[in-house]
Amino acid sequence: MDAEKPVSRITLRDVYKAQQTIRPWVKCTPLKLSPSLSDLTGESVYLKLETVHDTGAFKIRGATNRILNLTELERSRGVVTVSTGNHGRAVAFAAKRFGIRAVVCMSELVPQNKVEGVKALGAEVRIIGMSQDEAQAEADRLATKEGLVPVHPFDDPHVIAGQGTIGLELLEDLPDIDTVIVPLSGGGLMGGIALSLKSASPDIRTIGVSMERGPAMIESVRAGRPVPVEERATLADSLGGGIGDENKYTFDLVRHFVDEYLLVNESQIAEGMRHLYRADCIVAEGGASVGVASLIAGLVDSPKGNVVCIITGANVDMEKFNRIVNGECAEV
Ligand SMILES: *Cc1c(COP(=O)(O)O)cnc(C)c1O
Repeated sequence: MDAEKPVSRITLRDVYKAQQTIRPWVKCTPLKLSPSLSDLTGESVYLKLETVHDTGAFKIRGATNRILNLTELERSRGVVTVSTGNHGRAVAFAAKRFGIRAVVCMSELVPQNKVEGVKALGAEVRIIGMSQDEAQAEADRLATKEGLVPVHPFDDPHVIAGQGTIGLELLEDLPDIDTVIVPLSGGGLMGGIALSLKSASPDIRTIGVSMERGPAMIESVRAGRPVPVEERATLADSLGGGIGDENKYTFDLVRHFVDEYLLVNESQIAEGMRHLYRADCIVAEGGASVGVASLIAGLVDSPKGNVVCIITGANVDMEKFNRIVNGECAEV
């Protein structure tokens, strides 16, 4: 046994442990057949609704598992993150629930409504500098100086195992699943789900979907090593950002367990959001809609049997959402 073999470091057992750990705290989410997408493809297309979580996105799974695995000493010190998006919300929410201090570092460029949003979840906010890098430096400083535990948005075994519980729920609800289509950014979600499903059967087809504007994991897989991407405005804002030069887990997991990669453009993402709202009555953010977008655009090569799209979150600005579903804009 090679203990250093990267993909063997996180196993199905860790995902089952995560399931037990988070079960009292995190909802099992519904799996809904989409009649419209089934008609469109001639196969059975299901939607896994991660939009129903208390924080509006799946990241509550990984964040809760990470926080419940802190040692006593770590719990007494608290956690730190730089995310103001779905991960930040999840960390703040879970920390508050368990009475743990949470600090969110942000730059002065972060809009006031996001600052208020994080405060409303009970986290402390540290505003520092004019860039994400400076906010990250402050988080690193707090980790070293005050012993706050950084909670990584994706490259952490407890986070990956937490997101992987989606895969276990899919196997319970739909053991005959043939294909899963997953929004892909840092790869904690895709890595966790693909690990669960491929451990159950290597025949289950795993497809990761990113936006054309800055698909960090897909470019890294193609390059054979983590590469930086230019951050660009996109409707799939929750899929932005790099995978980290020092990526330890998700890059190998994704390379090992993901069969295919797809890219969608901005108008395809808008179409995915519109379709989910009009045909399935689901409010989904851009990053959550890329899987459906790829199906509608015909990018998935011969989908067969039971196909599942993970609808990862619902946190979208309502004015922007209205413009998109009314067809007024396909741009950010
Ligand atoms: C974070 C996020 C993703 C991507 O998850 P990764 O683990 O970073 O790949 C997808 N959808 C939404 C809504 C997210 O917040």
